[in-house]
Amino acid sequence: MTKERKLSKAELLRKEAFDAENERRIAEGYERHDLTVSVSKANWLGFVMSMPFVLVLMGLFTLLTPMDYEGWDMAEASFFPLVVVAIVLLLTVLHELIHGAVFGWFAPHRYKAIQFGVIWSMLTPYCACIEPLTRRQYIWGAAMPTIIVGFLPAFIAIAMNDWGWFVIALLMVIGGGGDMLIIWKLMTFRVSGKEALFCDHPTLPGLVAYVR
Ligand SMILES: [Zn+2]
Repeated sequence: MTKERKLSKAELLRKEAFDAENERRIAEGYERHDLTVSVSKANWLGFVMSMPFVLVLMGLFTLLTPMDYEGWDMAEASFFPLVVVAIVLLLTVLHELIHGAVFGWFAPHRYKAIQFGVIWSMLTPYCACIEPLTRRQYIWGAAMPTIIVGFLPAFIAIAMNDWGWFVIALLMVIGGGGDMLIIWKLMTFRVSGKEALFCDHPTLPGLVAYVR
């Protein structure tokens, strides 16, 4: 289960810089708290985390949109899966770009702090922020992509009675499950110190909190 994944060059560099900063912060009197999960756990537990939201959205779609079977064009539906895959891939890239946009907006050196990459063995794209943030900034950065490419299109699809876009939006909400898991870990993390820094973990989903 805890078999070490082979890190990419970008990840190794980021880990090295992180470890040096980590040592410096420990020497400055900060206490380290890891709020991380493995990539596979982020994927499956994230899926579970997203389910209540998915069920509520499906309930809303069922209640608020008329069942219009004549509008379901079967010729269109036959190539629908391919279109869905293509749009979901594009929106997944957009999801990571939004993480970068929000984290970069808050980071002390702005967009210099942002790195993008893909963990190919897990087919998981990621955005990493190499500078510390506040708790609130980290939560906004983690939540924004799923709000913009998941919840917002889901509500628009419900308003427009568009089941195709609704399916895509639901997939993007499910894809945001890992972020929801991290947000939940962060919101339930109680600190007793005055000063707290929240740093994105260099190689794992989640972050490290430094408190003193
Ligand atoms: Zn994300």
